[in-house]
Amino acid sequence: MRGLMMDYPLTLPPLLERAQTLFGYREIVTRLPDQSLHRYTMANFVERAKRLAVALKKLGVEPGDRVGTLAWNHYQHLEAYFGIPCASGVLHTLNLRLHPDDITYIANHAGDRVILVDDTLLPLLEQCLGKLDAERIVVMSQGGGPREWPDGLLDYETLLADADPGSYEAPDPDENDAAAMCYTSGTTGMPKGVVYSHRSIMLHAMALAMSDLFAIRERTAYLPVVPMFHVNAWGTPFCCVMMGAKQVFPGPHLDAASLCDLLASEKVTITAGVPTIWLAILEHLDSDPERYDLSEIELMLVGGAAAPPTMIQGFDERHGLNVVHAWGMTETSPLGSVSYVSPKHDDLSREEKFVLRAKQGRMSPLVEVRGQARDGLIPWDGETVGELEVRGPWVASSYYDSEQGADSFTEDGWFRTGDIVSIDADGYIRIEDRAKDVIKSGGEWISSIALENALMGHPDVAEAAVIAIAHPKWIERPLAVIVLSGDKSPTLAEVRSHLEPHFAAWWLPDALEVVDEIPRTSTGKFKKSVLRDRFADYQLPDED
Ligand code: AMP
Repeated sequence: MRGLMMDYPLTLPPLLERAQTLFGYREIVTRLPDQSLHRYTMANFVERAKRLAVALKKLGVEPGDRVGTLAWNHYQHLEAYFGIPCASGVLHTLNLRLHPDDITYIANHAGDRVILVDDTLLPLLEQCLGKLDAERIVVMSQGGGPREWPDGLLDYETLLADADPGSYEAPDPDENDAAAMCYTSGTTGMPKGVVYSHRSIMLHAMALAMSDLFAIRERTAYLPVVPMFHVNAWGTPFCCVMMGAKQVFPGPHLDAASLCDLLASEKVTITAGVPTIWLAILEHLDSDPERYDLSEIELMLVGGAAAPPTMIQGFDERHGLNVVHAWGMTETSPLGSVSYVSPKHDDLSREEKFVLRAKQGRMSPLVEVRGQARDGLIPWDGETVGELEVRGPWVASSYYDSEQGADSFTEDGWFRTGDIVSIDADGYIRIEDRAKDVIKSGGEWISSIALENALMGHPDVAEAAVIAIAHPKWIERPLAVIVLSGDKSPTLAEVRSHLEPHFAAWWLPDALEVVDEIPRTSTGKFKKSVLRDRFADYQLPDED
């Protein structure tokens, strides 16, 4: 017997109508390049998103055409998030931290016909001009960019002013049509395109609103520090429009003082970003704990890289701020798992709860996980490790126009994440490492992430990356590369005795190097490949 429910498509255009009808009063605030605040309402946003949809059609954008954006987090970028799919186009966010050659490759590979660019990012885009296949470049001005533009560029505000929102006709796409795309950060091989459908974005947005996930609701005031080019700011702008949350955008000002100021003045309740940002904010708050009133904050979501437990604990104990750890990937839209303390664990000690919260958490509804080892699926015992595989309605089923990466998808329909994990009996996932970062010592695995997290708990260490160094007997041994938090440089012996209580003796690093900074990828992850190259000829003693 078939169910007798309507086959109602899950698509983005009805969200604009909903936002207009129910949440027109809600504010959207942006910090502009000159530090001033731009404010308007959801009603203004909806009208302008419709104008953009009309304008893009006038420019010749056809259903399925890709429209790129090269922009910081701000209201015009939000307009693009909806205006492009509501013109039946595909929003393609370009990562402004990439090299111009990579931006060019990605925009051309995706087939971007139009690119919307911030005026402040014109100097970057100009390095791509002449090589880009895009037919039109549209400049979103907020002041702060060059006064003169190269010939032929269009002005976003003029396009919007000339478009009649009354002539907007909401499209009625198939829910499986593409609505957005994003390229992986390409830590291995060339970046690969992930294409999100209307349906996957809608289901993912609904999940973000769940109270045990991101808990976004109408009363939320949300500030995404995570860039809108990094997995669509983790899908949150779609959810905020769906739920009617206030949105606060930091523009290009991502330093700790500007962010804390905005979090306090706009009474932000939920915010999200990578560990690097929160580490800088923690240091800033520690230096002057009374300076900001952050008492409205309910949730500081952290993901994209492992959050050190000492950071979660530091925010909690010194500032009463609730950091919640989540795991995800470009290929998973990105929400995969979130780490809350289950009521089942209410009896754990404070310390044990911090350990649990520093895990990557339990899978979201509609996402299934399993760990695959060479000899079959791993048991959920919290110890056995294997590669994390996932499946669900917002997980990629293939990459866009790429042979490369085909082996990331299993024959039985799961996505191979490349993350090496253990899963405990309660379903808490712990990422032990990226497959390529694991240190294989004498045939056994050493988790670089676990060592890094513990090293970052040492008072003299601000940041730490642990990499494999070739060893004549053990094949690989760990080298700890650290950035000092002050003037004092710990010795290898001091570092090892700090780690000793927590790790088997053979896990302890054989050597220590101090560097000025740890290189990072464009999305804030440690770029260990650069360190591996730098220390490729490193000589370790060959005795035990
Ligand atoms: P991206 O597609 O750029 O978002 O990168 C996804 C990768 O980032 C994952 O496969 C993980 O290796 C890493 N990652 C994301 N979130 C976390 C987390 N909470 N802890 C550890 N690694 C993470």
